[in-house]
Amino acid sequence: MCGILGIISKKDIITPMIEGLKKLAYRGYDSSGIATINNNQINCVKSQGNLDQLQKKLINEELIGNVGIGHTRWATHGVPNESNAHPHFTDEVAVVHNGIIENYALLKNQIVETGITFKSETDTEAIAHLITLYLKSGMSSYEAIRATTEDIKGSYALAIIMRSEPNKLFAVRKGSPLAVGSSENENYIGSDG
Ligand code: GLU
Repeated sequence: MCGILGIISKKDIITPMIEGLKKLAYRGYDSSGIATINNNQINCVKSQGNLDQLQKKLINEELIGNVGIGHTRWATHGVPNESNAHPHFTDEVAVVHNGIIENYALLKNQIVETGITFKSETDTEAIAHLITLYLKSGMSSYEAIRATTEDIKGSYALAIIMRSEPNKLFAVRKGSPLAVGSSENENYIGSDG
């Protein structure tokens, strides 16, 4: 029942992101969040509850950027709280997800064995760590996403941003819908379900 949105634009994306997430709210949701890349860094603001609460946090925690991803969550793995809200991120990537990763427990065990600590109880966080591990092994952005999609089983529409590729917005789907909109100054991806 969640909604995901990705925007890459010549202008700051926060206002259209909030407007877009409000349009996805009709699906029902328990938490929300937005991540952007700015100054070579991934920044993320999330909140339990409705989008008004996210907007209140955005007054104090400035978030800017020309590329960003946002999410309205309907929890399937992990209680509805702030740490389980999307985006899920590492220093290198941030991910929002519509769907369910069926083999996440196995993947999580393998990731934890590498010394990584999970910050949430979600299935989605495994995706952020897998992409990061593949990037750190020397793969390109596309190779890292492709390798991750070969590891995960289940349904997903993913919007992904990467610190090393601040002018790109990545999206991939299987099972969950994904719409792409493009114009001269802005490109969008979205999914709900
Ligand atoms: N399975 C993910 C979670 O529980 C995504 C849920 C959703 O589609 O909102 O966080």
